[in-house]
Formats: sequence, structure tokens, C-alpha cells
Amino acid sequence: MSLLELDGVDAYYENSHVLFDLDMTVEENEIIALLGRNGAGKTTTLRSIVGSTVTRREGEITFRGEDISSRSANQISRKGIKLVPEGRRVFPTLTVHENLQVAAETAVDPRPVEEMYDIFPVLDDLRGNNGQNLSGGEQQMLSVARALVQRPDLLLLDEPTEGLAPVIVDDLLEVLRNVVEEDVTVIITEQNVDFVLELSERAYIIDKGANAWDGTTEELENREELLDEYLSVS
Ligand code: ATP
Repeated sequence: MSLLELDGVDAYYENSHVLFDLDMTVEENEIIALLGRNGAGKTTTLRSIVGSTVTRREGEITFRGEDISSRSANQISRKGIKLVPEGRRVFPTLTVHENLQVAAETAVDPRPVEEMYDIFPVLDDLRGNNGQNLSGGEQQMLSVARALVQRPDLLLLDEPTEGLAPVIVDDLLEVLRNVVEEDVTVIITEQNVDFVLELSERAYIIDKGANAWDGTTEELENREELLDEYLSVS
């Protein structure tokens, strides 16, 4: 049984039909890259999985074999699927440590907050700093740590490198490599193709809300025409 399966998923915002018959399979402990142009439907795919924001979703979404397609966002979160949305969402007036504590307190079976400092050493030095005083990269680390402290089985990262300087992207890459050794499955959407090619073994490309291609990232690296056609990479 796969960890997550999307079978013929359609999604809508009010009357706007955005995802069309989308299929996706994710095995335990994989890092899956979800790629596509601006507006292709990557964020909407993640929202459909966690049951947030979209007005309606159709088709089957199973997690550990259980149909979650009509479950609420809250129920899905409790099953161990966490979304780190685009743009950093940390509490600006709470310290790093408090941000982690609040996330831990709302989880069913949280990890010790201290463990997060082992995975994200940069946060250890910033424990007492307010969220609003962190750099973009530090906020992104904290966002991922806040999700991870809740011990998710499936972590969904929406464009984590957006707006980050290249050197910070390298730090994030390093951290995410460690995260994967923590027994977490990850789906990561990206415009930064180089970043995901380094991180994941398998990728899905979506275009206009539908499956366009899927395969190994090793194959994708050698398929320039796919990158040109679907990812606007020259
Ligand atoms: P981006 O990289 O720009 O976030 P994306 O691949 O994640 O792109 P989505 O954000 O899923 O794409 O958007 C898919 C389509 O759904 C777009 O046409 C977008 O305008 C529309 N859309 C996204 N969010 C909403 C919303 N809350 N209400 C209505 N339409 C939306």
C-alpha cells in the first residue's frame, strides 16, 4: 500500500475548476518534487491533500489506504499530514522557542522541542529572538521546524526556497536532507528545479491543473525539452 494516493482528483475554487483528473502516488520515505509553472496548480494540489482553502474536491485521496477526500482539514492534520504554506508563517511576536512550543502543544504526539535544535542548529542560536526579527531563511527554517515538531508522517512544503538568497538555499537543502533521515515523507513544490533535483528522486510535473509527466529526477535532468516546455527554465 502506498502512503498517499490521488486518484482522479478534481479541485475547485467556487466555480473555478483548477485541477483535472490528477493522479499521484507517494511511497513512504520518498521525497517527491511537484513541479510546474506559476499557476499550474501545485499549491492547489497540496491544499486538496490537506483539505484547506479549495471549495470542493472530487476523486479519491487515500492516506495509508484510508479515503480522506471528504475529511476536514483538522481531521487530516491529526492523521499526520502537515502543510508548510508558501510565505513564512511564524508568530511574529513570539520567540523562536515559543513558536516551537506552541506548535508542539497543539500536536497529538509532538517531538521534544529540543530535538528541533539538533536538526536546525541555526535556530539554537536564535531561541530568544522574536519571529519578526528573523531573516527570510531563518523564518523558513522555523516554519519547517514548527511542522516537524508535530511529528508528521507526511510533510508538504510549498516553495520553501522562494525569495531566499542562494547561500541560504544551500543551508535549507542541508537541513532538508537531514529531515528525510527523520522518517518523514515529503512532497515539495518548487520553481527552483536545481534545488529539487538535488533533493528528490522522483518528480511530477503538472500543467494547467493536469498530470503532464512523472518519473525519476535523474531522467528529468536529461530531458531538457520537459524543463523548457513545462518549467520555463532555459
Ligand atoms: P504558484 O507557483 O504561482 O503558486 P501554483 O502552481 O501553485 O502556482 P496554484 O496556486 O495552485 O498554482 O493556482 C492554480 C490556479 O488556481 C491559478 O489559476 C490560480 O489563479 C487559481 N487560484 C489559486 N488560489 C485561488 C483561490 N484562493 N481562489 C481562486 N482561485 C485560486
